[in-house]
Amino acid sequence: ARPALRGAVSGLPSYVPGRRASSAERGAVVDIAALASNESHYEPLPAAAAAVAEAAARMNRYPDMAAVGLRERIAAQLGVTAAEVAVGPGSVGVLQQIITGLCDAGDEVVFAWRSFEAYPILVELAGARSVRVPLDDAEGHDLDAMAAAVTERTRVILLCTPNNPTGVPIAHDRLEAFLRSVRSGVLVVIDEAYVEYADAGSGPDSLALYRAYPNVCILRTFSKAYGLAGLRVGYAVAAPDIADGLRRTALPFAVTALAQQAAIASLDASDEMQARVAAVRDERARMAARLEALGWKLQPSQGNFLWIRADDELRTRLVAAFDQAGIMVRAYQGDGIRITVADPASNDRVLTVLENSVLEAH
Ligand code: PMP
Repeated sequence: ARPALRGAVSGLPSYVPGRRASSAERGAVVDIAALASNESHYEPLPAAAAAVAEAAARMNRYPDMAAVGLRERIAAQLGVTAAEVAVGPGSVGVLQQIITGLCDAGDEVVFAWRSFEAYPILVELAGARSVRVPLDDAEGHDLDAMAAAVTERTRVILLCTPNNPTGVPIAHDRLEAFLRSVRSGVLVVIDEAYVEYADAGSGPDSLALYRAYPNVCILRTFSKAYGLAGLRVGYAVAAPDIADGLRRTALPFAVTALAQQAAIASLDASDEMQARVAAVRDERARMAARLEALGWKLQPSQGNFLWIRADDELRTRLVAAFDQAGIMVRAYQGDGIRITVADPASNDRVLTVLENSVLEAH
């Protein structure tokens, strides 16, 4: 017999990353606009780049496995203790630690669908079961249906606010009511990968909820607003026993010294990050207003991206039009298209494609 992968692995849904420019496309006359992965279009924050250069000079050494400096810096920023913070290689790495740390084979993880593509992969890889609850008509989490989906086997609930790919946040009061209704033995993860882009008050005050409900776990990343996607670092805030468990399930040395130092420097440069985020938010509003004027029906997005619900016919047509224009967007079969909001010039190109496709449709 030949070596065989576990059944759970052969059956895994695949993570399809946002399309990247091929070398031919990069060399082409048309500039490629990379709007498929919700990255920051800004160059690295100068302080982060300097920290990376400094850390790189010591790359013959292993990083601090306990990431003490970074955990203390995050804790100080949020008003928690370092014992409540666990870091990992991207928030997706932390999420894997959460799921493998809490779920035995056959346990259930409830999440909205459509949401972040990695959720079902991490759940099924752990031998647990994905329980997908359809989004409501306004593209947001249907918290009543999610509460109803909880069973004896539910160990974790994943909430994504603002939701990727739809951009819709979960309102604070609704989330609090949900937490009151869910039994305290279920870990409720609030994935806030895009929280920096959300307008104040549009989503939950997750830290207040965390203080009131010890089964809440906040998940955040340096990949989006802080612009460190290529370095891979994210973190969870959770009750000390959970956070300790997450640190113990971590792959040793998974977060590099470069990533740890860049993340610390980025937190120190939060004002610069905020100014960049404000520019993206202005652009998001400008694009949404223009698209609405053209007759596109969009839900207001609180992320650094716009979501266009589209049947397969429209999606195929739009993907072709974006491709033709050298713009890479993320297409989701059966559901729609997600477009990252970036610099004004790229955003104008997106608007032009969408304006033209409205003209074609008439
Ligand atoms: N959560 C959500 C909702 C995301 O969209 C992403 C990235 N696409 C992540 C988590 C993971 O990001 P990272 O691993 O880079 O922190």
